[in-house]
Amino acid sequence: MAINKDNYLQINATLQKAGVTLVAVSKTKPVEDILVLYNLGQRDFGENYVQELVEKSRELPNDIRWHFIGHLQTNKVKLIAPFVQLIHGVDSLKLLKEINKEAGKNKRVIDCLLQCHIAQEETKFGLDGEELNTIIEELDKSPMLDVRVIGLMGMASFTEDKKKVRKEFHTLKELYEKYLAQQGSNLKWRILSMGMSGDYQIAIEEGSTMVRIGSLFFGERARKQ
Ligand SMILES: *Cc1c(COP(=O)(O)O)cnc(C)c1O
Repeated sequence: MAINKDNYLQINATLQKAGVTLVAVSKTKPVEDILVLYNLGQRDFGENYVQELVEKSRELPNDIRWHFIGHLQTNKVKLIAPFVQLIHGVDSLKLLKEINKEAGKNKRVIDCLLQCHIAQEETKFGLDGEELNTIIEELDKSPMLDVRVIGLMGMASFTEDKKKVRKEFHTLKELYEKYLAQQGSNLKWRILSMGMSGDYQIAIEEGSTMVRIGSLFFGERARKQ
């Protein structure tokens, strides 16, 4: 499938003007496709599967900033800890502790986002408000030196109902603002990762600072998930 360069150039220009960071989601797509956007200047790429990310990172230029946006299993953290730029989907204290441990081994500090459950769908991973609060309190009590929690990530319901999507993004933005307002020494928030191909415009209107877009650039994916 051909890469839609026009979509990329146009969306990238709009996002730059709005001060929103673009993560190009390249999961299931070959390295040749990634290189097309790389050659247009794109450096932030997002992947969902650990093995695929590791393989691609070996084959592609090392100034690419790799974002892990999928559901991360604790036992796979060590595979991406040496190079990952930002882990978007942290949804437990256990996972955060593992990332902290592996970051330390690699003499790195790894940036993470806490994934919040904002969609009404059952299938989406993420923390509810109470679980989020517990993790943040825990971090305040016993700071982890080798991870930096720098914001939140969320996915809205997959629906045509734009009002519903807007409301879900709005909820996430409110949570983000709430914790931004009470920044302790261990919180240095600056990223609100929300918005994908189908809903990124609404996400930006609701205050997103980072969007994750795949199919608008790379075309539809085979139904792997
Ligand atoms: C696949 C994926 C995206 C990109 O989805 P598109 O609809 O192709 O833009 C964004 N975020 C996450 C977490 C994803 O899994």
